[in-house]
Amino acid sequence: MLNVLIIGNGQCGNRILDSINKQAMNRGSTAKEASGGLAKYISKHKYHSNVQTVAINTAINDLKEMRYTKAKDRIHIKNLHGVGANRTIGKEVFEQQKGTILRNVEERGNFDVAFVITSASGGTGSSFTPPLIEELKKTHDFPIYAVVVLPFREEGTLYLQNAAFMLKELRDGPCDGIILADNQYLKSIGGNVQDAYDGINSMIARRLIFLLDSLDSEMMMVTDLGDFKTVMKGGAGLATIGYFKADNEMPIRTVIQNALSPRGLLFSTDVYKEAGRAMIILKGDKKYLGMDDVSAEIERLTGAVGHVFKGLIVENGSLPEALCVLTLNSAEELESLYEGAVQAIGIEKDKKDRVKKKKEMESAFMTIDGMDPEY
Ligand code: GDP
Repeated sequence: MLNVLIIGNGQCGNRILDSINKQAMNRGSTAKEASGGLAKYISKHKYHSNVQTVAINTAINDLKEMRYTKAKDRIHIKNLHGVGANRTIGKEVFEQQKGTILRNVEERGNFDVAFVITSASGGTGSSFTPPLIEELKKTHDFPIYAVVVLPFREEGTLYLQNAAFMLKELRDGPCDGIILADNQYLKSIGGNVQDAYDGINSMIARRLIFLLDSLDSEMMMVTDLGDFKTVMKGGAGLATIGYFKADNEMPIRTVIQNALSPRGLLFSTDVYKEAGRAMIILKGDKKYLGMDDVSAEIERLTGAVGHVFKGLIVENGSLPEALCVLTLNSAEELESLYEGAVQAIGIEKDKKDRVKKKKEMESAFMTIDGMDPEY
């Protein structure tokens, strides 16, 4: 059985972690049981692996908002005024208080793999995640992957520049790979912001749970943590995940195509142009997993990508599902985010210069303080 650590940093990370715990808890429950107020007290997380979850935040209210994550798994890092969206403050707070976090993780024993989930653009998660991974890597040799949520592009200059710096720090550091999810790309989920967040969070949660299950499952054809590591080593250190579950009878080829299309992906990419390596896991009743169909579709992907690991999980009576982990050699969407970030940094710099000029103006006014006009 795999030992898995999942850390959720900051508000976005906390909420996605809570969504993962919610889905793990509700497995096998009826909708009524799952939505019942007592669900969280009487249910247990039903992970296939030994999964430990830790939520970290400077904002106590974000931690209190969590409904499916145990109190002992929530770490409040005290900082009087939060960190705003200021990563410089965030990094200072992490440096001062990292002992609390590292001790908590240490007490949980050893792991085979870890995931750290965060937004790229806020304050706490964005500034804590790169140094946290660096600290953990000093004393552990298990792979650590960051699951990073990119901002809606209209959220403003500070978020955009935070995202750009945060991703660069992660890539320059010892993180074993970055799995991208993009709020902007996924916003078509619709509804108000909260509904969109909930929808996106549960999409990410579902994909991660499926991935963990399949790394720890007795498959007809096996993929394992070793294969996942190899896939994540490919490409430019960036990856994303596609997933699709049929809600009616559907050929497996269509299920795979849907998982690799905007319906299934967490990040905007043309898989056939940008992907570097891939791992596909298919699940469902045997009647959907015909070898000829599966091979035909996977060969198409292999032709474009180079190497595709594949796994099949037979589940009697289940409609077909497909999950695909893709590492990316290039990412046009990320390049345009960086162009936006460069502009954002320019705008913020201009604003600072203007404030400086305003101060000079104020001191010009002050030069005549206490004086009277002479005629
Ligand atoms: P932190 O608490 O200081 O780390 O900041 P946040 O996690 O709130 O980071 C702000 C960014 O995260 C913005 O781009 C938000 O759109 C995004 N965000 C906040 N909450 C959620 C959420 O629940 N789900 C998703 N997908 N994004 C979120």
